[in-house]
Amino acid sequence: MNKKLLRKKQIDLVINRLIYEYPQATCSLNYNSPLMLTVALILAAQCTDNMVNKITPILFKKYPTVEDLASANTEDIENIIKPCGYYKSKAKNIVLTASKIINNFNSNVPSTMEQLCTLSGIGRKSSNIILQECFGLTEGIAVDTHVTRLSYRLGFTKETLQDKIELDLMKKISKKYWSDTNHIFVYHGRAICEARRPKCNICILNDICPKNGIYN
Ligand code: SF4
Repeated sequence: MNKKLLRKKQIDLVINRLIYEYPQATCSLNYNSPLMLTVALILAAQCTDNMVNKITPILFKKYPTVEDLASANTEDIENIIKPCGYYKSKAKNIVLTASKIINNFNSNVPSTMEQLCTLSGIGRKSSNIILQECFGLTEGIAVDTHVTRLSYRLGFTKETLQDKIELDLMKKISKKYWSDTNHIFVYHGRAICEARRPKCNICILNDICPKNGIYN
């Protein structure tokens, strides 16, 4: 398919409209420490943020520190996080990540992309979010399911793999917008540009969106 891609000027226009439309857009995972956000991001794979926000307080009430999580009984963690899905691999990743934080990073969640990506269940997307939310560092663009879908539909990229999409977006989106991109795409993806039934008739990007992507 010969997909129409937007030019940089049009991309800036899209981003500006979304920032104006969703001034309140922010991370929708609740956390009170870098460790809690890291665990929330492990739980968030294939799960809604609402469900994760219900489970993390329960988990952290029982296992409040990184040492508690590292020495936890994996089966007990599985039982707590079951509603988040993929609970066996997620429980394993939580315990492993806690151990790595203790052994490799002096019990503190690390603050570089390279170090974060060594944690179990944490890739570039989650690392970008941790860096931005907890350390005020913007190294890239967190590409999740909403950013993947909207980037393609909107003609920002022809790529379909998240790492390649991120590289493409980093070339095309001005760096000053990188920290906003994930939040505004998530908000627009949930409210208007839904996976199955995008509400194109009421979308503020209707006049500029190529609407000829593989998802449409
Ligand atoms: S016009 Fe439709 S496909 Fe394009 S961004 Fe809006 S809702 Fe999504």
